[in-house]
Amino acid sequence: METNPVTPEKILKDCPRLGLDDRFTFQCGSQLSCFGKCCHDVSIVLTPYDVVRMKHGLGIDSSEFLEQYTLRLQNAEQKFPVVILRMQDESLNPSKPCQFLSERGCGIYRDRPWACRMYPLGVAEPQNPSPENQRFHFLIQENICQGHDLGAPLSVREWIECQGIEEFEAMSVGFKELTLHDFWNGKRALTPAQADMFYMACYDLDRFRRFVFETRFLQLFEIDEARVEAMRTDDQELLDFGMQWLRFSIFGEKSIRLQPGASERKDRQ
Ligand code: SF4
Ligand code: SF4
Repeated sequence: METNPVTPEKILKDCPRLGLDDRFTFQCGSQLSCFGKCCHDVSIVLTPYDVVRMKHGLGIDSSEFLEQYTLRLQNAEQKFPVVILRMQDESLNPSKPCQFLSERGCGIYRDRPWACRMYPLGVAEPQNPSPENQRFHFLIQENICQGHDLGAPLSVREWIECQGIEEFEAMSVGFKELTLHDFWNGKRALTPAQADMFYMACYDLDRFRRFVFETRFLQLFEIDEARVEAMRTDDQELLDFGMQWLRFSIFGEKSIRLQPGASERKDRQ
């Protein structure tokens, strides 16, 4: 939840690399005068699973959630659409707190996003890992935060466990593979239609569900019946399918099969 962006160059230069068994000392709590200050004017990037958890926690549709609580970013450097939490409007509150921040802390604590769970840890994820260039964790130390050097030392592994991060990472494997794919190397940019497909299948899952079930979509692809039924109600199943559909449609992989004759039908649509 850094207020100043931590660039990859700065991480590699200044941040000690932490392995899963390395220990650090940190404790957050309402007794600290910094309580909640880290939840103002921050750029929290959301994963598709973050969106699923938060919209379920709030009991609203993904389109409504995205409209009310997020901003969609896509610029020349950003090859695919990214979604971040939208802070309160500056005209309402100049310090721009997160819309979920309450006097008692995070108002969606049980469903808070991956980045909020990880803090004060960050992760550096190389696109092409090698023995010399592996994923690593690092400690984010900001002047605003008074939680460092408090409490008992704990390992990175223990932090991941106590913050419930494992589930978020397990549910994000497909999305991570998609975003680290070789396709993004070089100068490839999505067309507006592809960017919208990406946004819908990754973040606006309820709209994607309507697209799958309320158009001729299912006539085009060979999908196991049990899977189709699961996709009607299970967001994770639909999200997994959406990742395969994007790989098929954007990367040109054979990740799903067309129905016999479907390519001609698709061409005629
Ligand atoms: S979601 Fe919760 S923890 Fe994350 S920035 Fe908002 S209030 Fe803070
Ligand atoms: S200790 Fe750090 S993470 Fe906790 S409330 Fe204070 S600034 Fe935020």
